[in-house]
Amino acid sequence: MKLGNMLRDALRALFRKPVTVQYLTKAGEMVPVPERYRGEIVYDKEACIGCLLCIRTCPSGAITATEEKKVTFNISRCIFCGQCAEICPKEAIRLGSNFEMVVHEKDELIVQ
Ligand code: SF4
Ligand code: SF4
Repeated sequence: MKLGNMLRDALRALFRKPVTVQYLTKAGEMVPVPERYRGEIVYDKEACIGCLLCIRTCPSGAITATEEKKVTFNISRCIFCGQCAEICPKEAIRLGSNFEMVVHEKDELIVQ
C-alpha cells in the first residue's frame, strides 16, 4: 500500500465511528445481542422425548445420550451451528444469548 493511501485511510479512521462496542454499556449493562444470536445451548429436558436426532445431526460430536434416554451437551466441543435446535421435533433445544462461557473446570461446560 502506498504511503499516501495509508495516510488517507488513517485520517478517515480518525473521524469514523468505531465498529467495536464496549463489553458493558456505560450504565454497566450487558451489550444486547442480536435476536438470532447462537450462544450457549439451553436444553429443556422435560420436553425431550429421547429421539436422539440431535446426536445424529451434530457435526462435532458434542451431544451424547444418557441412560435415561435424554441427552447432554458438551459445550467445549460445540461449534454453535444450531443444527440440533433445528432438527429437534420438540423444540427442546435453543441456542440462547449467553456468550460468557469462560470456566475454570471443563465439567462446567456440560449442559444437561
Ligand atoms: S432431538 Fe430433541 S427430542 Fe430428540 S433427543 Fe434431541 S433434544 Fe431430545
Ligand atoms: S449447535 Fe451444532 S455443534 Fe453444537 S451441539 Fe448443536 S449440532 Fe452440535
